[in-house]
Amino acid sequence: MAQRFYLTTPIYYVNAEPHIGHAYTTIMSDIIARHHRQRDEEVFFLTGTDEHSSNVVRLAAEAGRTPREHADLNAERFRALGGVVEATTDFFIRTTDAEHVAAVGRVMERLRESGDVYRGTYAGWYCSSCERFYAEDELDEGRLCPIHRTPVGWLEEENWFFRLSAYRDRLLAHYDAHPEWVLPPARRNEARRMIEDGLEDLSISRAGVEWGVPVPWDPDQTVYVWVDALFNYYTALEYARPGEDLVARFWPPDLHVMAKDILKFHAVIWPALLMASGLELPRREMIHGYVLKGGEKMSKTTGNVVDPFPFITEYGIDALRYYLAREIRFGEDGTFTAEGFEARYSQELANELGNLLNRVVSMVGRYRGGTVPADAGVDGEIAAEVSAAVDATVAAYDRLDISRAIEDDWRLVQRLNRLVEQRAPWTLAKDPARAAELDQTLFSLAEGLRAVAILLWPVIPGSSERILAALGQDPAETGLARAAWGAGRPGAQVRPEGPLFPRVEEKVA
Ligand SMILES: [Zn+2]
Repeated sequence: MAQRFYLTTPIYYVNAEPHIGHAYTTIMSDIIARHHRQRDEEVFFLTGTDEHSSNVVRLAAEAGRTPREHADLNAERFRALGGVVEATTDFFIRTTDAEHVAAVGRVMERLRESGDVYRGTYAGWYCSSCERFYAEDELDEGRLCPIHRTPVGWLEEENWFFRLSAYRDRLLAHYDAHPEWVLPPARRNEARRMIEDGLEDLSISRAGVEWGVPVPWDPDQTVYVWVDALFNYYTALEYARPGEDLVARFWPPDLHVMAKDILKFHAVIWPALLMASGLELPRREMIHGYVLKGGEKMSKTTGNVVDPFPFITEYGIDALRYYLAREIRFGEDGTFTAEGFEARYSQELANELGNLLNRVVSMVGRYRGGTVPADAGVDGEIAAEVSAAVDATVAAYDRLDISRAIEDDWRLVQRLNRLVEQRAPWTLAKDPARAAELDQTLFSLAEGLRAVAILLWPVIPGSSERILAALGQDPAETGLARAAWGAGRPGAQVRPEGPLFPRVEEKVA
């Protein structure tokens, strides 16, 4: 059976306005999903929406809708976002799905069977936008939520608690046995420190909140929205494909991808909940940084939002995918600027890659009637560089160093451009005695570019498929094995295309 690979985005909070941060998480996850599909692995890629928030109830009431109507409306925006960024997700979970609600009930029973669930009183500062309590010293001056910078409220009630404090040693042991299970190392250390410093028990239910999953043994309470949300990664597998047991096939997740603001939930609370439920822990979590503009996190609440949609309209989705994946080191914060975007678009995508395709196709057309010549086997150096790029790409993806993988692939783009200059096919074409040299050059360019298209396919899928089609290759043949030197169709007929990345005159910003 094929190797399997299960990866997830976080489920997005249904009331949020989809912004560049959501697009970034989904795009990076999709790049990884596509790469693993290229390796012939059986991939399951999950995304969805987090809908049981008290804010949904409030905002729905303000808009004259039921919470369900409100959630339906807003969930669609995130489903649409996945379509716009061309994410190849296999399932879109909504925490209001009846199957999820029922499954969370079952999971809560499992948690309770651990003996680590008890009834107690909670009192503390609560941010209703974050859906979490804050300790006094975590708050900003004036008792403001450190994320939202809005006043927190004092909440005091009888809840069900999870004895998170009892998991300290087990969590630390897991961190020590699996040093790379949370990446990058700075985030791992941050999460480990939270555990080392001591954990407080977690309130896992709320009283008087009807919009949520009822606690099975105490229907007056609903499950704390974060517990409900985290278990989506498990419950989705129970019903995503009716009649198929995806839990047996795909659990545990190979990779959770998320932004750093939800580190504690995923790297401290989630593993403890899984331990208590007797479920295997995810193999890796990748915690990425923020997409910054002017040095501040872009989000609705802090203002300063970059809207990705005009860039997609103007430059195409591949340009946005490429820019984000190459510009921002995965795991670190990065800055989105319109100038930087336009520079990479025109210098790299249009000039280096788009022009290379254009030159190869037109030279094969002009000098060889459109048929890519056969390999005479004398360009061993180029063949070796292609092979090295494939290995480097796979290794970089295994380390989740996506920008590095693109840099490695791009060196090949630049190498092929240099090859054009070095061999000067227009000069070779004038000398019949050098026909074999011209043949080899055109073959090496077409074959190298074919490999580049496959290597870059996870990042710029539509453009890669256009490159393959223009080279007379099957655009559906994007598996990594096809990137091997000489794996292309022999005697392919090139098909001239319009520019891959057309010049854009107007600036978006
Ligand atoms: Zn908050």
